[in-house]
Amino acid sequence: MTEHSFDVIVVGAGPMGSAAARHLAEMGVKTALVGPPEPDVKADHTGVFASHYDQARITRKIDTRKNWARLSQEAIKRYPEIASKGEQSFYSPAGAIIAGTEVGERREFVLNAQRNALANNVPHLPLRGSDLAARFPEFSFPDGILALYEDHDAGWINPRLHVKAEITAATKAGAVLYRDTALRIDDAKNAAQVHCAGGSVLTAEKVIVACGAFSKAEGLLPDPIPMRVYARTIAFFELDEAEAARLAKMPSVIYMPPDRPEDPYILPPVLYPDGRTYIKIGGDAVDIELRSNAEMIDWFRGGGDPVTGAAIADILIGLMPGLRYRSISYDSCATSFSPNGNPFIYAQTDHIIALTAGNGAGAKCADELGRLGAVVATGGDIPADMYDGAFAP
Ligand SMILES: Cc1cc2nc3c(=O)[nH]c(=O)nc-3n(C[C@H](O)[C@H](O)[C@H](O)COP(=O)(O)OP(=O)(O)OC[C@H]3O[C@@H](n4cnc5c(N)ncnc54)[C@H](O)[C@@H]3O)c2cc1C
Repeated sequence: MTEHSFDVIVVGAGPMGSAAARHLAEMGVKTALVGPPEPDVKADHTGVFASHYDQARITRKIDTRKNWARLSQEAIKRYPEIASKGEQSFYSPAGAIIAGTEVGERREFVLNAQRNALANNVPHLPLRGSDLAARFPEFSFPDGILALYEDHDAGWINPRLHVKAEITAATKAGAVLYRDTALRIDDAKNAAQVHCAGGSVLTAEKVIVACGAFSKAEGLLPDPIPMRVYARTIAFFELDEAEAARLAKMPSVIYMPPDRPEDPYILPPVLYPDGRTYIKIGGDAVDIELRSNAEMIDWFRGGGDPVTGAAIADILIGLMPGLRYRSISYDSCATSFSPNGNPFIYAQTDHIIALTAGNGAGAKCADELGRLGAVVATGGDIPADMYDGAFAP
């Protein structure tokens, strides 16, 4: 058995954890980052999974929620720096639309987004009716929709490559990477200990837990994190080369339809590791809670729920009536929610800090979430002049 001691150990080498490790290492803190690589085959994997095992996550500075808008604005400013230090680009400036009905019960979604954009001076173009149809002929929005188009600092990021860049930058700054899984984190009198599946026991004054949905895994922490994890299904439309070329300038889209319970988000054509190009839609309205490790692992291993997937696919077919696709397939993912909708960045015990609960929005702003995790782990507070409300239960 080997023993190693650090100032801070970050458990979870995903978007938030890898960013926290980079910020800590660059602050001169003796840092370890613990996390397994992505499994080669999901279907027979029995270990932990992550919510960023995909090629594309929407990035945008406009949000209906003030804190998430600010988190993204701060993170997006640093994309060039992360890419340069991490020797890996991960951002595609495709632009983004946030759209919703201006009438009826769901109108606050787009109107709040517009208020936040105006309050934060985020450049955007409001589009309606014939202007919207002329600017984006690939979409057929119903009447009464307001679309806020950001053509600057918005589009999508590849979360796998973002993590790769953060890890490279973190290790260049001195962080030690352990490609291992934490089985248990103990809180002792003067330190915390991380017991790894490979047999190592790592000790540090502070441990940041950034394990995504698996932050609430049974037995990992002395006290569970009060977070809810929901199963999500995503639909992929495979495009041929000509269709992908036709839609090459399509932006990312977040859409609140007036007449359906879903809140869909759509990624433009993206090339996947299987050599095929897909448009992706998610945002299903089915909240199936995953309560145990076994339920989370089973869900991630499966391919999502075809009934839920078909409902969400139906929205894309309605919104893009001219779309020519070869096939539709589904996949599974999971989102982690805190009760108040803010991320969790708080000292859970004297030595353990929670950094999790992306609330379905944590990829694009992971670098700022990681920075705040590093601030809390080194004795600082979430800056009250930047963020409102509790980032704790
Ligand atoms: C379908 C879907 C679509 C989404 N779309 C968007 C979007 O468009 N834009 C956006 O900004 N966000 C989006 N999100 C949210 C975003 O993907 C998550 O908020 C983000 O991945 C959270 O990052 P994380 O680091 O907290 O967790 P994760 O991405 O889950 O990473 C956690 C890491 O911890 C590791 N880990 C787990 N347990 C252990 C352990 N015991 N020991 C060591 N390591 C461990 C895992 O291996 C993993 O690497 C989406 C999420 C889903 C599911």
